[in-house]
Amino acid sequence: MCGIVGYIGNGNVYKILINGLKRLEYRGYDSAGMALVAPDGKLSVYKAKGKVSNLEDYCSDKSLDACAGIAHTRWATHGEPSDNNAHPHYSEDGRLALVHNGTIENYKLLRDALQQHGCHFKTETDTEVLVQLIEYIRTTNACSLVDAVREALNQVIGAYAIAVVERDNPDTIIAARKSSPLVVGIGNDEMFLGSDGTPFVEYTDKVVYVNDNEIAVIRRGEPLKIITLDNREAKVDVKKLALSIAQLEKGGYPHFMLKEIFEQPSTLTDCIRGRVVDNGYSVRLNGVFDHQDKFLNCNRMIIVACGTSWHASLLGKQLIQDMCGIPVEVEYASEFRYSNPVITPRDIVIAVSQSGETADTLAAIQIARQKGAFVYGISNVVGASIPRETHSGTYIHVGPEIGVASTKAFTGQVTVFTLLALSIAQLKGSMDQETISKVAGYLLRIPELVKETLRLDDKIRQLSLIYTYARNFLYLGRGYSYPVALEGALKLKEISYIHAEGYPAAEMKHGPIALIDSEMPTVIIAPKDHLYEKIVSNVQQVKSRGGSIIAIVTKGDTVIRDLADHVLEVPDVPECLTPLITSIPLQLLSYYIAINKGKNVDMPRNLAKSVTVE
Ligand code: GLU
Repeated sequence: MCGIVGYIGNGNVYKILINGLKRLEYRGYDSAGMALVAPDGKLSVYKAKGKVSNLEDYCSDKSLDACAGIAHTRWATHGEPSDNNAHPHYSEDGRLALVHNGTIENYKLLRDALQQHGCHFKTETDTEVLVQLIEYIRTTNACSLVDAVREALNQVIGAYAIAVVERDNPDTIIAARKSSPLVVGIGNDEMFLGSDGTPFVEYTDKVVYVNDNEIAVIRRGEPLKIITLDNREAKVDVKKLALSIAQLEKGGYPHFMLKEIFEQPSTLTDCIRGRVVDNGYSVRLNGVFDHQDKFLNCNRMIIVACGTSWHASLLGKQLIQDMCGIPVEVEYASEFRYSNPVITPRDIVIAVSQSGETADTLAAIQIARQKGAFVYGISNVVGASIPRETHSGTYIHVGPEIGVASTKAFTGQVTVFTLLALSIAQLKGSMDQETISKVAGYLLRIPELVKETLRLDDKIRQLSLIYTYARNFLYLGRGYSYPVALEGALKLKEISYIHAEGYPAAEMKHGPIALIDSEMPTVIIAPKDHLYEKIVSNVQQVKSRGGSIIAIVTKGDTVIRDLADHVLEVPDVPECLTPLITSIPLQLLSYYIAINKGKNVDMPRNLAKSVTVE
């Protein structure tokens, strides 16, 4: 959550920061601000509630001459979104300005202590204690800025990525991280800072991922220096940024979300590439292959995730249990971390997160590691924290996902789980080779079948008009279609603000059936699978209570066609692959309903991409 940008160099500081903020706006968008240090040392802070464009308007008549600067787009955790609470925050005498991503847990204690020393707090944020504390230490200890930052961070409990600039010190930016992402971009005579590499992708592909408990000392004309919180010099490990500017643009679509839905044939091709080998005869994931003993000897798997990734993980559980016969549990990372989990060294913990930065999932990984489990990561962002903190893992390789409501990352995660289950099954011999090759062969065809499914676009757009003003939706599915129902309901909630519940279809009669009437549409995911006859009965139960039904069915279905009000036909695939197909019409349905309601689908209210706070 929240985006940080920084720049020092001879380029147009304001332009670089504002464009960088626009790229990071998907991470938080309740307010934005920047601090500019002019060549004469003057420090100016500009901030505005709302979108980055409001900040741009606000800055239109300001003096923007600068040689260094930091900027922030906020996702409020402490204090309402307002001009005043927007970052950067000034220190007591205005000599420092700071931006922060994360939360400071002991902020009350620090605030009380600083108030006793004469500090006046002007905002409701937890962040302000950081900048006040740094200035207080800098003044009382008469130490350098970097020492003051280091000293202050040693007193802080919580999660942070920060950047600080100082009046009369136009050649320095100090940045640091613990649990929130931070990347330094190294250019020619210039350096950049970002929550990820997107703000500076057109300027450099040389990046240094700052690690937890590290401070980056960014000085004009000097090489990047990294020190640790205990004041040791750390290695500056320069990596190549795997990102292109085209991936960050809408490519002719009105919204990132629609672009990302339509990209799925190619993102799934990228996700599968090189992983189904020998002409579809076998599946190879290096992350599994290189640690075969762990997978062969594991007693149990625990998958930890949040939100959409949690839904993908429910499918992962089913795939692994069906194909490998290994017991699997799926936990919300936020619950797992505080549940005193029983983990043994023969457990494998799989952590799933699109951004690779989800705070709760990272904390779950730490617990799993402490307890001796082998930890496997599934994420999208190369070089993010989760891939770095896990023993092994697999990237979903679907390219940057900018739309806040996840679409292509969900299908990428489900595809990786399918590959994971197939490769473990192959190792263990828990599935016969013929079946493995059959599923792998179908997997290779999935991109083309997703493309075929996307042809429902027009039909779904028409259909969405009928249901735009429904106040509640029920989504039902069984077996592999149950997590798809959960994900379909989540998608609708997130972007259209219509209340929607996903349920295992058979559970409906234990409660939700009471809600069914002609006002509440039910979306039923009912491909031809081994539970088909069962779900037909559930369709009948809804119908006989006057509910209207939108059914996702396999091409050629006749039984549900006669019962449902609307059917959306999708291509026939093996049961374990149906989620990759049936989730597509649900993405489109929620997209069009939200558009009909005039909602901002790419930046839904209160949400943000990459949840880096608890
Ligand atoms: N906790 C800080 C605030 O509420 C930072 C939130 C963020 O990461 O944007 O201002």
